[in-house]
Amino acid sequence: MKTMKNKGQLIVISGPSGCGKDTVVKEVLKTNKKAWLSISCTSRKIRPGDVDGKDYYFLTKEEFEDKIKRGEFLEYAKYSDNYYGTPKDAIEEKLNQGIDVILVIEIQGALKIKEQLKNTLFIFILPPSIKELKKRLENRNTETKEAITKRFQIAYKEINTVNKYNYVVINDIVEDAAKKVNSIIISEKCRVDLMDDEFINSLEEEIHEVLLEYDSTNK
Ligand code: 5GP
Repeated sequence: MKTMKNKGQLIVISGPSGCGKDTVVKEVLKTNKKAWLSISCTSRKIRPGDVDGKDYYFLTKEEFEDKIKRGEFLEYAKYSDNYYGTPKDAIEEKLNQGIDVILVIEIQGALKIKEQLKNTLFIFILPPSIKELKKRLENRNTETKEAITKRFQIAYKEINTVNKYNYVVINDIVEDAAKKVNSIIISEKCRVDLMDDEFINSLEEEIHEVLLEYDSTNK
């Protein structure tokens, strides 16, 4: 029997660099086995700990620009002098299979998706404080002071766009933040406007049949 719409949900998660959004999403995926995390392409340099094909598909600037020309991205953006983009191909397939797709992307890309795809769920992750954000960025030990400054400048702009998102989650304790994200995803599936009309129609038909049955036994 059909219940709610069988298509997967597209979920966009953003937040300032260092807010812990990747860690929250990893935690979300531990319990939410029905969601799939899209792997982006980037032209940024591989950082210690990054795995090509797992964290990103690492490309040269030229390779990335060729993909742009071929229309292979659902969205892409330049962030901190590097390209980042969401490959289009797998996403439609997963959504059609009823699998939820999570994109962890920065705000310019998120806004492009907002223009194109209705019914996308937008969640913004915030750090509990800027002091904490600074600590997390510095503790990563993967970037220069200059790169961190740039990320702070971007974070300043990004924080003001939180109102373009549907939900905000403060990442104080990772497990709590992940629970909130999962609850939001579950609630989204119960939205009346996302309900399958066919399901309501089938319930109406069944009521009709029951009424006919009662009608015939009353005669
Ligand atoms: P990082 O260099 O720290 O891995 O990522 C920098 C920023 O780019 C983060 O905010 C990250 O979420 C974002 N990002 C990662 N993949 C994509 C993508 O496919 N598209 C866009 N627009 N941003 C992305």
